[in-house]
Amino acid sequence: MIVRNLQLVRDRMTTACVAAGRSPADVRLLAVSKKFGPEAVISAVEGGQRAFGENYIAEGVEKILALRAWQAAQPQKLDSLLEWHCIGPVQSNKTRLVAEHFDWVQSVDRLKIAQRLSEQRPPHLPPLHICLQVNLDGGTNKSGVTPAELTALVQAVAGLPHVCLRGLMTIPEPAADFEAACALHAKARAVFDQINQSGVLASPMDTLSMGMTADLEAAIHSGSTMVRVGTAIFGSR
Ligand SMILES: *Cc1c(COP(=O)(O)O)cnc(C)c1O
Repeated sequence: MIVRNLQLVRDRMTTACVAAGRSPADVRLLAVSKKFGPEAVISAVEGGQRAFGENYIAEGVEKILALRAWQAAQPQKLDSLLEWHCIGPVQSNKTRLVAEHFDWVQSVDRLKIAQRLSEQRPPHLPPLHICLQVNLDGGTNKSGVTPAELTALVQAVAGLPHVCLRGLMTIPEPAADFEAACALHAKARAVFDQINQSGVLASPMDTLSMGMTADLEAAIHSGSTMVRVGTAIFGSR
């Protein structure tokens, strides 16, 4: 079921890319496995998926360790390692766990959290990949830096030693239809392009993480480079 669902999501992504005149290679799929157990992740790995998103840190770390043990027990090595993205709120007292176990954090919206993640990243690991969560619609989902505060945060995070600023992440409010969803995502794309073109970064950001089960077509239409999909792969939570 999960393997078939994954294929359906990839087909949706390819169709959306073709419709938008984009290359399917330019949009990555993050499988959001929150609230599903390690067996579900293993099924997705067997279906070829390598990147997974988790919202809840303790649950995510437990799954990361379970999958590491599973991988170690496999007779054949996987063609590539699993990649774990933290996509939920990170409190100060959880930064160490995140820095020690995850590969990416997409939900950074304060400098203090980014500083702690950089300080606590173990030296034997590569830099932690960071996306800044931006709140563009001021919606009830209150996490996320405002566009007005974004440039200063981008500059500060880009200067930290043990993290690598990769891009922006947004979770827009649900939209009424395709056009409305595209308009919201286009706003995020405009902010992303504006920062990249402003010259504040030595190297441009390459990741615009937006689009979920309900709106991945609109997100891809508007320039997403990574969609985060849970329900359409693993079922409803
Ligand atoms: C749960 C979640 C998703 C996946 O949502 P679906 O609608 O199940 O695809 C994506 N991004 C974030 C930040 C989430 O919390």
